Amino acid sequence: MPPITTSVFELFKIGPGPSSSHTIGPMAAAGAFAREAAGLPADLLTRSTGLSVRLFGSLSATGLGHGTDRAVLAGLSGYEPETCPPALLSEMDLGPGAAFPVRLGPVTLSVRPADVVFDALEHGYGHPNTLVFRLLAGEEVLLEKVAFSVGGGFIQWQDAPPEVEASPPYPYESMAELRAQLAASGLKLHELLLANEKCLTQRGSIEIEAGLDRIMAVMAEAVDRGLNAEGTLPGPIGLRRKAKVLSDRARRSPTVQAAADRLLVLLDAYALAAAEENAAGHTIVTAPTSGSAGVVPSVLAVMQRHLKIEPQALRAALLAGAAVGFLAKHNASISGAEVGCQGEIGVASAMAAAMLAYAHGFDLTVTENAAEIALEHHLGMTCDPVAGYVQIPCIERNAMGAVKAYNAFLLATVEDPGRHVMDLDRVIWAMAQTGRDMCPKYRETAQGGLALRPPEC
Ligand code: SF4
Repeated sequence: MPPITTSVFELFKIGPGPSSSHTIGPMAAAGAFAREAAGLPADLLTRSTGLSVRLFGSLSATGLGHGTDRAVLAGLSGYEPETCPPALLSEMDLGPGAAFPVRLGPVTLSVRPADVVFDALEHGYGHPNTLVFRLLAGEEVLLEKVAFSVGGGFIQWQDAPPEVEASPPYPYESMAELRAQLAASGLKLHELLLANEKCLTQRGSIEIEAGLDRIMAVMAEAVDRGLNAEGTLPGPIGLRRKAKVLSDRARRSPTVQAAADRLLVLLDAYALAAAEENAAGHTIVTAPTSGSAGVVPSVLAVMQRHLKIEPQALRAALLAGAAVGFLAKHNASISGAEVGCQGEIGVASAMAAAMLAYAHGFDLTVTENAAEIALEHHLGMTCDPVAGYVQIPCIERNAMGAVKAYNAFLLATVEDPGRHVMDLDRVIWAMAQTGRDMCPKYRETAQGGLALRPPEC
């Protein structure tokens, strides 16, 4: 396998909830398709009469609850995940008569919600999250592109020629290779990642640090918005937000007396806050996905607001967490449709555990052990969102992932690190195998588990 060439800014993407693979990825793919179509010869474009987008597999099974149709329409209309208004998708009107203009060079086509079709669950394309885009002239197909939304907002195009990737100065594709690079170079983990990031993004240190600060600021904004929001989340479940209740009670309730309990309840509240904002379709950061967008921000909030960890240590910790996400994405998957929730909440928890250890100044071994413990205890976790909405079990699962991250950090820092038996490469391998063996109905299709026992509304 080639070395890891994912940038931290690809792993931590800013965009609308509720799903990186079902919302951000499809939105980005739709935008890319529209741009490619706009580059066709003018005589071809003037013959075009419409566009169609067909969603297959998991995108068909849970795309409605994940806002995939809205994301595709927004992407075709020229919106981009990072810069679209925070409430664009949640406020989009898909009622009768709704139509969205798509500008393609000399022509402007009108696309209706019915042009985005939830197609077959079973299909012959190469990935569970498949989109087929077509530019049409009546029945004639002028341009067809097949995209796979592979998790975390990443898109792969079918039959795309292999990209010529930049070669990072410290290549690695496993934790063992990363350890060897660190030993040979004498660099600290965040220094090595920064050196690779400069090469991959062609940005300087100051620009990269500013980008890391922006990621953390958007995460903090999602937490704060969620802590101040009340009411019911979109969709048929009628789920009420509860981050604010937890936060208020942690601060005032006589039943939350002990300082340790208070910190735990606040960690829960921060995780619920960002996850509820994600479920509302508002702006979040994939970490590594949207469904798991509450874990890393909640741990960061505790480090910033309660443990008073300095900004420079937080930037370094974010890079350490990214390394865990890179390894999981490269050697297994961060897509619930491929490996279940272990690849989303499990990986997020491992990233957060590594961040806690690294921000506290622990060495590489402890940092790796923290990540390993957190991921190990998410192995086998299925993805079974009720009604196809990223709400139950997803929102509380973010709080559970955050608490497990904290406990993994404690376990890793209190034990004798040299005697830790399992390593990160082994647990990532086990996650990939477990995901491969997992019955498809537990991989983001809403056809098994809790999804079959929806509450009566
Ligand atoms: S159950 Fe987990 S993997 Fe599935 S949608 Fe929810 S957060 Fe994502």
